[in-house]
Amino acid sequence: MPESDRKHTFGPVPSRRLGRSLGVDLVPFKICPYDCIYCQLGSTTTKTVERCPYFPVEAVIADVKDALDRGVDADYVTMSGSGEPTLHSEIGCVIDEVKKLTDIPVVVLTNGGLLTDPDVRRALSKADIVAPDLDAGSEAMFSYINRPHPSILLDNVVDGLAKFREEYSGRIWLEVFLLAGVNTAEAEIEKIKSHIERINPDEIHLNTVARPTAEDYAWRVPDDIMLRIRDSFGDKAKIVSPFKHKELSTSQAVKKDDVLALLARRPCTLEDIASGLGVHRNEAGKYVAALLSEGRIAETRQNRIPYYSATVDNRNVKET
Ligand code: SF4
Repeated sequence: MPESDRKHTFGPVPSRRLGRSLGVDLVPFKICPYDCIYCQLGSTTTKTVERCPYFPVEAVIADVKDALDRGVDADYVTMSGSGEPTLHSEIGCVIDEVKKLTDIPVVVLTNGGLLTDPDVRRALSKADIVAPDLDAGSEAMFSYINRPHPSILLDNVVDGLAKFREEYSGRIWLEVFLLAGVNTAEAEIEKIKSHIERINPDEIHLNTVARPTAEDYAWRVPDDIMLRIRDSFGDKAKIVSPFKHKELSTSQAVKKDDVLALLARRPCTLEDIASGLGVHRNEAGKYVAALLSEGRIAETRQNRIPYYSATVDNRNVKET
């Protein structure tokens, strides 16, 4: 796809952690130093730690400005999307430019694997909130769940997160993604807790499978076990609750390709699409039916609920 056809914003996404989140995509699908078994984007196609300016900052900022000019209603502007945003070597500059355009708080969703690099820590210190992951207490569990690039070790990741905490005055929301029968045993939880004590985040977000995953053996943790683990993590911990769907009005003119851009970054139900983009469920259904018949999206089921996501050839699309 030529650069001129690429769209760098998507949504707003209905986020369980962030309400309505205007996504900013800084890397092509799907470039990441990890290949998590629970990833909702599917398998990593390029596993790398090499940082580079994947897209020109001006092109990214033009799309953010366009979304804001269209009256987008978002609680956060979120660096996330088709892979790991800290792989974009100009992410600090992107955050600076977004903050010149809007007072909406800027969040970076990151796996945290590159926070060992002082340049990455400096860049992320410009954000209002940084939300890294820590899903494992041991190297073996880290390898099993996150399948990182061979140069990344869990001990170094924890060191990087702890250093970032010392340097950063914004808020750190640490996510722990829990998988049934994998990282919920007491011994593993205790190791994760000891790492978190060093990192000292402002909040601990406990999450589990709610959408289709890269591997079909990544299973949701039952509610009673989530509650027990939350209690053991103490006051800072909360379970990421399902997004509360609500009727929303928007001055943003929604088009079929806005729906496709959203589904290129996240599998969504009809309600997710309607709530995220601020359209009636029937209108969302009309776009979904059209995109299905064109073969641009596909349906999968998670706990018998239909989710829609863009087919691989339809990632990173630009609205018409
Ligand atoms: S969940 Fe995040 S860190 Fe893991 S593979 Fe997917 S994009 Fe990368």
